Amino acid sequence: MNDPVISLRGIDKIYDQGVRTQVLFGVNLDIAAGEFVALVGASGSGKSTMLNLVGLLDTPSAGQVLIAGRDAATLDEDERSRLRREHLGFIFQSHYLLPDFDIMENVFMPCRLRGEVALGDSWKRVETLIETVGLSEHRHKRPHQLSGGQQQRAAIVRALANEPRLVLADEPTGNLDTQTRDVVFTLMRDLSRKRGQAFLLVTHDPSLAVDVDRVVTIRDGRIVDERRP
Ligand code: ADP
Ligand code: MG
Repeated sequence: MNDPVISLRGIDKIYDQGVRTQVLFGVNLDIAAGEFVALVGASGSGKSTMLNLVGLLDTPSAGQVLIAGRDAATLDEDERSRLRREHLGFIFQSHYLLPDFDIMENVFMPCRLRGEVALGDSWKRVETLIETVGLSEHRHKRPHQLSGGQQQRAAIVRALANEPRLVLADEPTGNLDTQTRDVVFTLMRDLSRKRGQAFLLVTHDPSLAVDVDRVVTIRDGRIVDERRP
């Protein structure tokens, strides 16, 4: 079997700002290459906390986060950022597109921040993605000229532009109406299948967690169920 793209081993997370609150308790999770995993749980159950740990945006109080075969705790800040840029893509509930740039510029922003020139392969890759998500005719518009669903599709392209092995999506359809939600969800799942990219999709909406490879349920900071639908 291939190495997992990410492993959480015995993760505890305690927030200690004034009040000491333990939010995660002994969490274990492996995600295989190309696997589409839904993480479901009520609001406040620890989903975003878990995602931030997987995304190397936060550090656990106990346990290990293994990414690309390395223990994240042994990395310095530069190495963490590099791993984030090269291995991970992020999609949030809000699209965080920059209002003064058009869709193509927004989508290329991470490449530009990495110092890449938007030429040749990466340009073609993004053009293909833009076409796949149905934004070709909108690619020179500003974010405010697009619908919520279109904005979120642009955010998906931005997250996939560096061909990450794992995409982390925190309630990416939370601001969308039901129909648009289904379109955006299906798009992510199809992209994952076609491109062999693993997804960890956080949602409090169990109806989205049907056509996925695995559903992981978290309750009060503990993984209480894992199913393959
Ligand atoms: P979810 O994403 O499932 O809604 P979160 O991971 O955001 O849950 O939060 C889990 C629990 O941790 C909640 O009780 C929340 O109030 C608490 N929490 C989240 N972030 C912090 C923080 N920075 N400091 C203290 N408590 C936090
Ligand atoms: Mg959350």
